[in-house]
This record gives sequence, structure tokens and C-alpha cells, in this order.
Amino acid sequence: MSAEAKAMVIEDYMLEELLRCPYRYAKRQGAAPSAKADVNWMQLAQLAVSHVVNAFFTTPEEERARFSIPDMLERWWTNKVAKFESAEHYWSIKQRLIDGLSPLLMEEASSNPIILFEQHQAFVPELQAELMQIFQVVLGSEEGEPSDYIVRKYIVDEDEDMITLFQHLTAVFCSSAFGRLPVRIEVLPVLSSNRRVLYPTEETLERSMDYMKLAVSLMPEASSSAGQQRKAHGSAECRRCPFLEECLRPGDEATEAIMM
Ligand code: SF4
Repeated sequence: MSAEAKAMVIEDYMLEELLRCPYRYAKRQGAAPSAKADVNWMQLAQLAVSHVVNAFFTTPEEERARFSIPDMLERWWTNKVAKFESAEHYWSIKQRLIDGLSPLLMEEASSNPIILFEQHQAFVPELQAELMQIFQVVLGSEEGEPSDYIVRKYIVDEDEDMITLFQHLTAVFCSSAFGRLPVRIEVLPVLSSNRRVLYPTEETLERSMDYMKLAVSLMPEASSSAGQQRKAHGSAECRRCPFLEECLRPGDEATEAIMM
């Protein structure tokens, strides 16, 4: 059997879950399907944003000026008000998404992605693992060589750790899967205008590979030692976590959070 046939398969969302909270990751491995499927307001908002972005880029260029972001968001907007902090929060996030998406998408009136919401898979020899990554938008670059490309992600959750993971994962994945690095890796937060742009190079790729080796090394341990690591209580991650009550149970020694 070849090395590739035996390789561990790691999907991008698994790494996200693991790095957000190893304890929750481990708990979810054995949880009922309902607990695994439990989502928070950011995930619901991200789902709606992804649908709007996808609908925008699949609209023919000549019709994009008439593309209605409020109408499209309405189509995909959740009715799970209870998942938000309050009814006001629910409505305010909806409006802020419309306000944030408008300038981000309208500046793309004539962009046609090479890849749009596709999952790709590649074997990375240095990790001895198959990585699976969902690409939202990959665009050709207007400057440089014809094969230059830009990887872009529209996000709701501006968690710095997740942004770092995305940048490192994308660099490593693209280098293996496409044979060359993207000229830019762009992260565009919809709820703020604080966009992050990384220009990966062979030097930064080395750091990305080191980061990914460390992240991947945690995977098999997640249900044992690494799986005991919890977020500091009071973190934003804990506040929207379905296991919060259980984590805070009085008398449970493990409620002493391990700082990450
Ligand atoms: S409440 Fe916090 S520490 Fe507990 S599982 Fe959720 S994110 Fe992790």
C-alpha cells in the first residue's frame, strides 16, 4: 500500500474546530449528531454570506449592477433568533452584513473566479496527510503572469487564530495542489473593513509548513491530552459554545481552564 493510501485525511473545518477548542473537538467526536450539528450565530451568518457571495459571482457580469444584496441575504438569512445574543443583535447583524457586503461585492462587478466554492484535496508529503480545503473564491491576477492567482475568503468571524490557520493552510495546500503559491491570500471580514492580505513567498511557506506540522501533530492526540485543553472561560468562543453549561459545572475539577 502506498504512503498516500495510508495518509490521514484532514479537512479544513477539523483543524478549525481543533484549534478553537481541543476539549470541544474531542467531545464532539463522541457526541450525538444533534450536538455535532449545533451551530452558533456566526456560523449561521457565515452560511448566509457564503450563499450571497456565491450568487453574486454566478450572476452574469451584465446583470450584477441589479444584484440585490438585501434580497439575496433575505433568502438565506436564518430565522433562529435565539442563536443570537438578543433580537436586537439578530437584526443589527443582518443590517451590518448588508452594509459590509455591498462595497465588497460591488467592487467585483467584472471579476470572474477560476474557482468558486469548491472543495479540493491534495496529498502533502511533508505532512504525510491528505488535506481537504474548501475554496470560496479564487481569482486570476490582473498583473503578473497568466498563471498567477489570488485566494480570497469572505468571513464573519474575525478570530485571529482562524485567520492565521487559513493563511498557513492555504499556502501549504496551494503549493502542493497547484504547484505554485498564490500571489495574494486575502481575508475580507464582512463586519469590519479590516482586511488582511498576505503575500506568500518561499520563506513564508517554510513557516506555514512548520505551523501545519504542529497543527497536524495535534490531531491524533485531540481525544487524549490535547483534548483536555480548554479555552479560558469568558472567551468569545466559550460564550457561544453549546458545552458552556457543562464546562462551568461546579465541582468539576476540569473547569479550571487551560489557557491557550
Ligand atoms: S465552553 Fe469553552 S472551554 Fe468549554 S468546550 Fe466550549 S469553548 Fe471549550
